[in-house]
Formats: sequence, structure tokens, C-alpha cells
Amino acid sequence: MSAALDRALDRPAAQQPQWPDPEAVREVRTILEGVAPVVNAEEVDRLRSHLAAVATGTAFLLQGGDCAETFAGTTEHAIAGTVDTLHRMASLLTSTTGLPVVTIGRLAGQYAKPRSSPIDTLGLPTYRGDIVNDRETTAEARAPDPHRMLRAYVNATAAMTVVRALRATRTVGRGTEAELFTSHEALLLDYERSMVRVRGGRQPYDLSAHFLWIGERTRQLDGAHLAFAELLANPIGVKIGPTTTPEQAVEYVERLDPHDEPGRLTLISRMGSTEVRRVLPPIVEKVTASGHAVVWQCDPMHGNTVQSPGGYKTRHFDRVLDEIRGFVEVHRALGTHPGGLHVELTGADVTECLGGPQHLSPTDLPHRYTTACDPRLNRTQAIELASLAGEMLFS
Ligand code: PEP
Ligand code: MN
Repeated sequence: MSAALDRALDRPAAQQPQWPDPEAVREVRTILEGVAPVVNAEEVDRLRSHLAAVATGTAFLLQGGDCAETFAGTTEHAIAGTVDTLHRMASLLTSTTGLPVVTIGRLAGQYAKPRSSPIDTLGLPTYRGDIVNDRETTAEARAPDPHRMLRAYVNATAAMTVVRALRATRTVGRGTEAELFTSHEALLLDYERSMVRVRGGRQPYDLSAHFLWIGERTRQLDGAHLAFAELLANPIGVKIGPTTTPEQAVEYVERLDPHDEPGRLTLISRMGSTEVRRVLPPIVEKVTASGHAVVWQCDPMHGNTVQSPGGYKTRHFDRVLDEIRGFVEVHRALGTHPGGLHVELTGADVTECLGGPQHLSPTDLPHRYTTACDPRLNRTQAIELASLAGEMLFS
């Protein structure tokens, strides 16, 4: 197993930090290889069977949470807010669609971020998420520190404890899956490889989370991220952006679903509201013709990011909604199941995305713009989105 991991991770890996001290990285990895993992294999297997139902059209997948969790933001209150928002959205979706909803949080480990540039506008190394460096704008804060991987593990475990406690006390809406699963982008390979465990069965599990996805910037077919994901028993997502070709999509499917397991792979389209109707159909057609049953999930956030006049990274609610509309139209036309949504949201009343029921305008953005990375839907916007998406999905 260790040799197979080494081989996979010897491939070129995009978006990795330049750690200053390789010996410290090895020490941290050794510690993490011995800790109790954040989640357990039985839970991962349960999610796999739920995702098989999504892939075959008898359930719906809702995934959401922060773009980037922070260590300071891992509070009981914040987690409860996100979890409660997701459950309200799930209740709305299940009542409009009549389908059970499988819910996955982007939480308890979403600490690593890919960046478009290694240097920010101040000339400092970019913030790569709390697992790598600190958001503060000093050279010291931005230096990658491998010990942060230990803090990420501790914070993820603490968040998981909160999630489990909430589950024990919560009643959730009819038909929704009470269990909240966790996910993050499998980006930082030194961390992810240290959380791999053998638990019997065919393949090892990455027990840092139940569901892991590969991002738009690390989905190279010859790269380490894909080779790493191939080795795992976890259900895997791959983001597919506007430049993805049908041929690439089929390669993802064949590489990541070699045993034809419905729901093993989730293809997460994030094309932008103006591109989805053009780019997605040939991909869906070619993947469907390959015979593999994937989960088709829409991320209506990442293809619709713009700069506000005041310089804030933002997204307009109407464009987010229009990408979902396009996604549903494409699947309706092709007879495939528009199986899920993947959104950046928070339970707090932030002012990061424009529009929505509160009609947030560019001048509102500075009031409560607190995200560590991309703009999130606030609670009101997220619940409205679930209500409108539910109508589109099953009208
Ligand atoms: C994200 O999900 O936060 C992200 C970086 O997305 P993408 O890889 O699709 O750009
Ligand atoms: Mn993001």
C-alpha cells in the first residue's frame, strides 16, 4: 500500500506549498499516521450506498459549507449554523422533489485552498488555507508551516465531535437523511496521505473525511491528485470547469470508477451560467454512453465569481440560480438525473453574495464580508436557493 501511495504521489502535484523544512514535514506525517482518524470506514461505506441511490436517480445530494474553514472559525456556534442551514435546505428539497436527500458538509477539514497565483497583490506568498499558512498580511504569517497540519487534524476532529452531537439531538425533516457526512478538497497531499488507513476490503480509506473531491486546478490526468484518488475506497468528486472536454470526462470516469459502482464518482460541473448549456451536454452524453453511473452535481458558485465595483470578490444570486436552471435543463433534455447541488454557504448573516431575498447590493458587501476565501451565500440566500432549486428540479 505504501509503495502504491509513493508511486501515485511521485507524479507531478499542482498547488503544493514549498515547505521550508522537509524534516519537519516527515515528523508531522509520522504523527498523523498514528492518530485516530477523523471519520470511520463504516460511515464512508454508508455514504457510498447513499450515493449509489443518487446516481441511479432515487435520491438527491446536497453539499455545502464554507469555501475555506478557518481554525478560529471552528466554533460550536458556526458549525451548528452551517449544519442547521443544510438541514433546512434538505427539508425543502425533499418536500419539493419527493426524493430523500443525502447531505454532505464542506466542513471538519476544508482547510486547504488552491490559488490562481503564488504571490498576492502585496507581493506576499498567497494564503493557502489555515492548514498551510495564516491569512494575516505579514511575511512570517504567510510562511508555510507543516505543524499547521496537526492543528487542522485537531480542529477537524473537534468539528466532527460537534457534528455527531448535533446529530444525536436533532430531529430532521421527513425523508431527509439524518446523518451529516463530511467532505473537503483533497488538495494538500502531505496531509491526505497521512490520513490513509487500511480497514480490510479492497482499497484503503482516506479517513480525513467521508467524501473527497479534486478541484479544477488539480484535476490533471497525469497528476498526483488523480492517482491518489484512484487508490481510495472513498466516494470521489471531480470538479469539471468550462474547459473540460467530453474525452477528459470519460477518462475521469474510467480511471475513478473502474469497477462500475454507481455513485463512486461525482462529476461536479462549475461552468458558469453562460457556459453550462453549451459545455455540459456533450459531456453528459459521452459519459452516459460509457455506461458508468455517476452523480451529476452542480456547483453554481465557482463559474460565476466577479469583482464588485468596490473590489470585493462576489457572486450574484441570479447567476447562481441561472446556472442551476441551465444544469437542470441539460439533464432534462438528455433524460439524466440532475442529482445534486454543491454550494458555498454559511449559517451566518454575511454580506458576501449579491441579490437574493435581501436584495444585497455592492454597497452592502463591506458590512459583514468575513469569508477567508470565496463569497458564501448567507443563511437567507441559501434557504431561498434551495426553495427555488427544488421547484426547478421537479416541476
Ligand atoms: C472550491 O470548491 O472552493 C474551489 C476552489 O473550487 P474549484 O476547484 O471548482 O475552483
Ligand atoms: Mn471556493
